Amino acid sequence: MIFVTGGAGYIGSHICVELLNAGYDVTVFDNFSNSSPEALVRVQQITGRNLQVIRGDCRDRDALITALQQSQTNAVIHFAGLKAVGESVSKPLNYYDHNVVGTLRLLEAMQVCHIRTIVFSSSATVYGDPVHLPITEDHPLSPTNPYGRSKWMIEEILRDVYRSDPSIRICILRYFNPVGAHDSGLIGEDPQGIPNNLVPFIAQVAVGRRERLNIWGNDYPTPDRTGVRDYIHVVDLAIGHLQALAVLKNIDHERNDQSFGCMTVNLGTGQGHSVLDVIHAYEKACGHSIPYQMAPRRSGDIAVCYADPQFAYKILGWKAQLSLEAMCRDSWRWQSRNPNGYQK
Ligand code: NAD
Ligand code: UDP
Repeated sequence: MIFVTGGAGYIGSHICVELLNAGYDVTVFDNFSNSSPEALVRVQQITGRNLQVIRGDCRDRDALITALQQSQTNAVIHFAGLKAVGESVSKPLNYYDHNVVGTLRLLEAMQVCHIRTIVFSSSATVYGDPVHLPITEDHPLSPTNPYGRSKWMIEEILRDVYRSDPSIRICILRYFNPVGAHDSGLIGEDPQGIPNNLVPFIAQVAVGRRERLNIWGNDYPTPDRTGVRDYIHVVDLAIGHLQALAVLKNIDHERNDQSFGCMTVNLGTGQGHSVLDVIHAYEKACGHSIPYQMAPRRSGDIAVCYADPQFAYKILGWKAQLSLEAMCRDSWRWQSRNPNGYQK
């Protein structure tokens, strides 16, 4: 049984599909603060399998212990947390509470229940402004906002937990820019309020919910002067988690295989795309133009960021397969069939 915190969210729901399709049993633990139970109804519709859903908050240790015991969990994938960079600057305590305290409570509950395997959602934001490209896992860590620092703190906590007990199995996955949706068009990203991220914003312009996109900055030192990121299809990302689980399961502690016991791995494609590249790919996918205007740089944004994905291939045998075209096509299928997200 795999226990998925935050499993009703954007990435979590896609993971649940891949886990169920691969034959795992799944329990989702989510407080639905940024998601809808409908996402999990659709996960079951896609896979034709049931999952267990427990409404609860990761900061509640007793609720976690009860849920872990009830579900007879073998391993945890921890997605639950808050993720809006801008909001983390205005509400840092909330971010440290949900993200750091939530993870501490989860690790305590896992200890009580003798569960020793965890995959954690970290982020490329822990690297801060890149000092070299592509970004390898040993790139210096220098997050520039409370959200990024909360991820960095959790990573340090996990590394300390591992040092205290090397028989624990931990995989820290640093995501680059997850986008796209399941190709059924039934699940996808459903941001509350005005989307902060590029692809959900473009999707809402494409479907007519918003008038035009602001391109935050056209004076970056990049080929077309707009920001460059490593966009990765959410289904590729989900498969990376399955690979991580499989590798953790096969670690041979008898051989004291310490290099594998606490792995930190980039999940990206290794390819950078500019804002204009994404707009053009989306225009192709939806069949009409996306109105946009140039606007000043967004505070805190970096010019270029893309992963070195070689370690993921070496250690997990995982490589992203899906193109930017597929990301836009699947995002559009989801957005056009569900113009208001999970709200009917
Ligand atoms: P999301 O907001 O869609 O999903 C997070 C889920 O966690 C939601 O269902 C929410 O209701 C739940 N949640 C939040 N706080 C909780 C708490 N205290 N207790 C229980 N449930 C709680 O976000 P997502 O995009 O699916 O991201 C999942 C994880 O991946 C997050 O940890 C995020 O920081 C990380 N991540 C996301 C991105 C991205 O671009 N989406 C990039 C890098 C890392
Ligand atoms: N971006 C933009 N307009 C938007 C949202 C994002 O021009 O409405 C740009 C942003 O400046 C960056 C890229 O798109 O260059 C990706 O931004 P996103 O917020 O999706 O990811 P992050 O900056 O966190 O990597």
